[in-house]
Amino acid sequence: MSKLIAELDAQLAHIDAQSLRRRRRVTETPSTPRVQVDGRAMLAFCSNDYLGLAAHPKIIAALQQGAELYGAGSGASHLISGHSRAHAQLEERLAQFVAPQIDNARALYFCTGYMANLAMLGALAGSDADLFSESLNHASLIDGARLSRANVQVYPHGDLEKLSVLLAASTAVKKMVVTDSVFSMDGDLADLPRLLALCEQHDAWLVVDDAHGFGVLGADGRGVLEHFNLRSPNLVYMGTLGKAAGVAGAFVAAHASVIEWMVQRARPYIYTTAAPPAVAHALLTSLDIIEGPEGAARRTQLHSLIAQFSQTLQLTTWQTMASATAIQPVVIGANDVAMQVAAKLYERGFWVPAIRPPTVPVGTARLRVTLSAAHTADDVAQLVDMLQQLEKEI
Ligand code: PMP
Repeated sequence: MSKLIAELDAQLAHIDAQSLRRRRRVTETPSTPRVQVDGRAMLAFCSNDYLGLAAHPKIIAALQQGAELYGAGSGASHLISGHSRAHAQLEERLAQFVAPQIDNARALYFCTGYMANLAMLGALAGSDADLFSESLNHASLIDGARLSRANVQVYPHGDLEKLSVLLAASTAVKKMVVTDSVFSMDGDLADLPRLLALCEQHDAWLVVDDAHGFGVLGADGRGVLEHFNLRSPNLVYMGTLGKAAGVAGAFVAAHASVIEWMVQRARPYIYTTAAPPAVAHALLTSLDIIEGPEGAARRTQLHSLIAQFSQTLQLTTWQTMASATAIQPVVIGANDVAMQVAAKLYERGFWVPAIRPPTVPVGTARLRVTLSAAHTADDVAQLVDMLQQLEKEI
């Protein structure tokens, strides 16, 4: 065997020894709570399809119609010939949707949230910028910050006193605070009103990744800015469309000048093939649902399931976290025990992922339960019972 392969195999064996090998499972049906995996029907608490739209018949029909109208692929990047009427309509709708929160709003659609974050930070920050990054930020923000070549300073989770000291000490012309709105592994919310006040005081951008808030938070599902009733020219907003919106992609919304700058300069936007137009076409139907009475009803259902789960689950050694969102972690601690619990759950028909370092800090391996409007109260009651039972057994 080649030396190069042998070295990789040794590293993989090391990962195995720490119970850190990640594995994929093959799903065979749409991503609903009753998904079929490797031939078995499971009760799933792992998708980010918070409103249960991923298998919505109207969105599936719109995707099919989009393929008929525009074909299978976009054929090129946006700045060459890949920018279809569907992409343009989607961006207009998204800009209108977030307009109550953002002055002179314009939106830019991306294939994924990961790319949107790389693009946003790369275009707005540069080697002349001080970028203040929350310690629990998503990997795509961390990578975007690195790629931007900005001077990155990480502030501890929720520590706005520390952030305020760092901002006051900064002499950079460009300053930028970057944060998740809903922390993806803990489920808690950033204190955006205070963060925005600090940014306005120090003339800094506030860049918000609302991957887990768009469609879910706020009375009309406009996301975390609506939830906190915030509006400011300093805001740059990223929302994903593969989670609550049920399809794929993401968008950045900000003042039109910010977006035009991104079109001119953001490499992950410029140098990649545009997403299939049919996807953008389907997202127009997603937005109709999110904005309308059905979206409101789905949000009400989701919030009632979140309350049920957090109020009824009683644990003694494992710990829940102070989360009022659809992300409900159960912290177990050791990697191998978290794996064992996830495996036992799976044996009994519940699919709940175990999340381990480096995604979460060492010693805080956890089950990441995610709830969806497509779950029923009975589904949640079954999971609560099973978790309580397993805690006693293990
Ligand atoms: N930001 C956060 C906070 C996320 O949780 C995710 C996805 N897990 C992303 C960005 C990336 O979004 P996408 O999956 O669309 O690439």
